[in-house]
Amino acid sequence: PVGRDGLAAYIRDVPDYPQPGVLFKDITPLLADAAAFAATVDALAELAGDVDAVVGIEARGFMLAAPVAFRAGAGFVPVRKAGKLPAPTLSAAYALEYGEAVLELREGTLAPGARVLVVDDVLATGGTLAATVGLLERSGAQVVGIAVLLEIAALGGRQALPGRSISALLQA
Ligand code: 5GP
Repeated sequence: PVGRDGLAAYIRDVPDYPQPGVLFKDITPLLADAAAFAATVDALAELAGDVDAVVGIEARGFMLAAPVAFRAGAGFVPVRKAGKLPAPTLSAAYALEYGEAVLELREGTLAPGARVLVVDDVLATGGTLAATVGLLERSGAQVVGIAVLLEIAALGGRQALPGRSISALLQA
């Protein structure tokens, strides 16, 4: 079995991807290894506690959030990029390094007051998670926690999510 500290060995550093100067953390070796994938899903599911749903963010968030939801005995709810979900949707625009992105949540997917855990692969600047939390709260859900596989602490994502309970299995 792979312990939590052993997971770091399955994350590959890719320099200058997707653009020059960016050090991309590639999680596909971890997903491809049965023991590392299972250890990751188990560790994230332990953080879920008593939630109604686990929310995943397109696309890498889906790969972790769906098995975490299954393991935790909770539902799975996708937050998707613009234009992928049928109306009615709520949308949130957020800043990227260059330009802007839009995330959407289907209205009515979560019951009012539903307790949710948000799962993503990487916390970098926090813009993606902050937009997601905003969408969920506008929809009436209660965000009880955020869990990520990897936090790139130097990018300051926690400052974008003040007062939130954030757990990261690994720090980079
Ligand atoms: P943020 O919005 O916190 O700046 O960026 C986090 C989002 O971008 C996450 O949804 C994540 O999938 C993606 N992301 C940013 N940097 C990386 C990275 O180095 N590796 C991976 N796998 N995803 C990243």
